[in-house]
Order: sequence, then structure tokens, then C-alpha cells
Amino acid sequence: MKLFQCEQCGQVLHFENTKCERCGFQVGFEASTLQLRSFTQNDRRYCKNHGFGVCNWLVATDTTSPFCTACKLNHYIPNFQDDESLKGWREIEYAKHRLVYSLLRLGLPVKNKSTDPNTGLSFDFIDPDQVVPDDAETMTGHQAGIITIAIGEADPVVRERNRVNMKERYRTLLGHLRHEVGHYYWDLLIRPFPDRLKSFRVHFGNESRDYAEALHQYYNQGPRPDWSQHYISAYASSHPWEDWAETWSHYLHLVDSMETAYALGVSLSPRLGDQENPMAMVADIDPYLSIHFDGFLNKAVALTYALNSINRSMGHSDVYPFILNPAVKQKLSYIHNVLQEVRKS
Ligand SMILES: [Zn+2]
Ligand SMILES: [Zn+2]
Ligand SMILES: [Zn+2]
Repeated sequence: MKLFQCEQCGQVLHFENTKCERCGFQVGFEASTLQLRSFTQNDRRYCKNHGFGVCNWLVATDTTSPFCTACKLNHYIPNFQDDESLKGWREIEYAKHRLVYSLLRLGLPVKNKSTDPNTGLSFDFIDPDQVVPDDAETMTGHQAGIITIAIGEADPVVRERNRVNMKERYRTLLGHLRHEVGHYYWDLLIRPFPDRLKSFRVHFGNESRDYAEALHQYYNQGPRPDWSQHYISAYASSHPWEDWAETWSHYLHLVDSMETAYALGVSLSPRLGDQENPMAMVADIDPYLSIHFDGFLNKAVALTYALNSINRSMGHSDVYPFILNPAVKQKLSYIHNVLQEVRKS
């Protein structure tokens, strides 16, 4: 994520801010310019979901929809009869807006399913304890452009319990969204293109393998013992589609983290003696622009090493508890090349 500044007074602002803490001006995010804009009541308007405290994006002036680019993607939202479910929805929206920001910066199509039923994207945020609509799923997942998030995942206690039960190293709302949207973009960017599908299979394996059977096997017998040499996570070893979605989510993790490091002007020169140091780096590239991928990845790895070290100093677990083996690096590079191609087309 980049850094934002108040257009009136220069104060540094967060992506989620609705007003400047210093000068008091209202601010809102404008998707067409990817900037926070300060405004007065008359010249712009907020998305309708601003009224619930879950969105600070502005509505484009040439649209009749009361919703912003990110909220137009919502299909079902929870029935928030209490503060707790409203809070859960807000957490999910914060993560979703960050996701949509990344998709826009990558130049990916962000079409909503209500106007593009066949190739659009939509979100269902479902509370299985409430009445669930007949056409909705109850479990977090992706199906034909519909991403479902079970809103229990917004509760940090529930999420941590799930993480431990599933033996995962990392579990966040943003991680869920990045993973699930990976399935959507596979359908959109890989499946219809024979050349891309062919090279996909070289890196990720043949996805025609029975999906339900593969997951059944994974949940009953656990991951293959050598998964850490070939995959980013144990779950990625369950099926090529899951490998793609897991690796895709890591691509977004690393790009977003490196954009933040770039915006902050981070540089690392560890005091470790005279020899060439692989942990030295200068975050001098905007990772959303056309970049030399290997150079980017080396910088990203150095950044995660530094962040993990600082987290440990604070008594927290690693912010990025993963090792990028050579096979995973190649898969990330494949995803990068596909995204470059899409951007150029
Ligand atoms: Zn200000
Ligand atoms: Zn909105
Ligand atoms: Zn998945």
C-alpha cells in the first residue's frame, strides 16, 4: 500500500481514513486515481456503505449506483442486528478494499457479477448462524466468480482457533480474500488460454485431477511429506488449483509489502561484517510497475527477514512465516509473467 497525504494540510493519512486528524477535512478514496481526496459535502459523495462505517471510497460522478467500485461487488452482506456482526463486516470490508486496491493497481479487470453475470466477480459475506439464502454457500470458498467469506473468520478468536486446528502458519481475512480471488482469476486468465494452461501445468501440475478426491485425500491423510520442498504451504500440495491460489496470494502479500516498503523508503544494511550481505537491500522499485522479478524477490525476502526479526523483538510470531523454495520462486515468477502479459494486452 502506498502512503497518502491530506491535500489540504499535508498530514500523512491511512487508506482507511475518513477525515484528516489535523485539519478536519473529510477524505475519501477515489478509485480512478487511486488517491485519497479531501472534499466538501457538495463536490463529491461517499459510497452508501460509508453510512455503516465500512467504506471510505467515493462514488464516481458518472455512475447511478450508490456504491463504490469495491462495494458494488457485494452480493450478500450479513444481517447486522448487533454491534458484533457490524464489527465483523467492517473487518471484512477493510480487507476487501485493500484487495480491490491491489487488483486495480495490477490493472486486472474488476467487473461485478450483476453487470457481467458470466465473467464478473461478487462477494457473499455469510453468517451461518443466520438464515442463509438458498443460493449462498456457508463455507469460505470460491465458486464461479462468487467468493464466500464466513463472517466468523472476522472474529480473531475463531480465526486463531481455526488456524491452530488446520495447522496453518498464517491466517488472516486479507489472506483468505487473496487466496479466493486467485481461483477467480485462474478461471479468467488461465483456463481459456491454451498456451498459458500448458505452462501452468509445467509449474503447478495437471488440474484435471479429481478435485473433490484430492481434497478428501488431503484432509484424511495430510499433506505429502515432502511438501515444503515444492509448495508454499501444506495446503498448496492438495491440488494444482489450490497451489495456484496459495501462490497467487503470496504474490499479492509480497507485492503489497514491497509497495509499502517502497513508499516508506526502506533500506536495510545489516551490521554483519564486511562480506557481501544478501540481507542488504534498498526498496527502490514500485513493484506494481514492470519489474525484473528476481531482483524484486530478493528484496522482498530481505524485507521479510527484517520484519520477522522485529516481530520477534516484540514477542510476536513471524509476520511472514514462510520459506520461498526454488520451485515456489518459479511459480511466483510464472504468475508475474502472466500479470505482465495481461497488463500489456
Ligand atoms: Zn489535513
Ligand atoms: Zn464502498
Ligand atoms: Zn482454494
